Amino acid sequence: GATRTTQAFQEAEARTAHNYKPLPVVLEHAEGAWMTDVDGRRFLDLLAGYSALNFGHGHPGLLRVAHEQLDKLTLTSRAFVHDRFAEFCASLADLCGKDMVLPMNTGAEAVETAIKVMRKWGYETKGVAPGQATVIVASGNFHGRTTTIVGFSDDPDAHDGFGPFAPGFTMVPYGDLDAMAAAMDENTVGVLIEPIQGEGGVVIPPEGYLRGVRELTAERGVLFAADEIQAGLGRTGKTFACDHEDVVPDLYVLGKALGGGVVPVSAVVADADVLGVLRPGQHGSTFGGNALACAVGTEVVAMLRSGEYQERATRLGEVLRSRLEALVGHGVLAVRVRGLWAGVDIDPAVGTGREVCEKLMARGVLAKDTHGSTIRLAPPLVVSEADLSWGLDQLEAVVRGE
Ligand code: PLP
Repeated sequence: GATRTTQAFQEAEARTAHNYKPLPVVLEHAEGAWMTDVDGRRFLDLLAGYSALNFGHGHPGLLRVAHEQLDKLTLTSRAFVHDRFAEFCASLADLCGKDMVLPMNTGAEAVETAIKVMRKWGYETKGVAPGQATVIVASGNFHGRTTTIVGFSDDPDAHDGFGPFAPGFTMVPYGDLDAMAAAMDENTVGVLIEPIQGEGGVVIPPEGYLRGVRELTAERGVLFAADEIQAGLGRTGKTFACDHEDVVPDLYVLGKALGGGVVPVSAVVADADVLGVLRPGQHGSTFGGNALACAVGTEVVAMLRSGEYQERATRLGEVLRSRLEALVGHGVLAVRVRGLWAGVDIDPAVGTGREVCEKLMARGVLAKDTHGSTIRLAPPLVVSEADLSWGLDQLEAVVRGE
């Protein structure tokens, strides 16, 4: 029986705001792609902390670095410089082919940072009149939960009831270059988009869109910020999702897997002519760039440098793709796959996304629905092919109504 689970779950729900609707499972331990709950049941993790756990749970290399750093130095604040800071910034900047890094903690903070930097650049470099800067965003976006960010979301759950919102954002349909071009004027300082929309349901834009955004922004003197927080760092089979179209944005916005699932680490990475607009006192974070974060982040960058995880995502992604495509017409309406990342639209005749996730949980698989009828699959990139196949067997059984 699941006696401890029931009690622990009820206790948790009683004393937290209900801003999430978690599956009724209480986890206690995890290793690689597997998690164990308080009743000793094992689950295959097909969510990987929304891609924060690309390297799996308890990665030995990451844990070693974290343990060593914990014993030496954790936090100085940026009033002082610590010995892990330069290495992290240099290695991450090099991974991105950029000059500079501005480290923060969470994804939303990095997005806010990118917005501030683009506005400042707009006023100081582009010459936009004070208070007039606009940033173009896309329909269906998800960039985080701060008041500024939810103000330019078209998801009613994210947006409604949280205004008044910050002005200065223009929304255009995702994937539509003509609409983006038409929305640009002399006050446009930046374009902020996800190269693949994760929360939107792993929505892959039409081929050539990212290249088109790159060309358009370069032509019009507008910065291109790619929110690679969920799509980047190996998930799609490349270091960055923009790499699929050989596109280099002006600003990389990174988070999630940058902290290896150990600590929150996010960053904006750009050249000196962009990040250089910030001067002392104009932006900051108590925890951003702390020693523990930098130690772990440096190891994450080194792991990505090996190319091993990108290669695994590509190879296992083909397994994921062929298995999921075979389900279309059998309880699944459509699938979108890029690397080891998939959006699976469940046939409403089978049930809601939530119901499918509950049935998967009963079979020892943890996944999460997004927007009602879509399930997002993002296994840790360290998952074995046999375990992935087993997990997909369970999904197949559920959508086929077995
Ligand atoms: N941007 C994207 C593309 C995301 O997927 C997310 C989180 O899901 C965020 C930003 C926000 O990150 P955080 O939850 O760390 O603030």
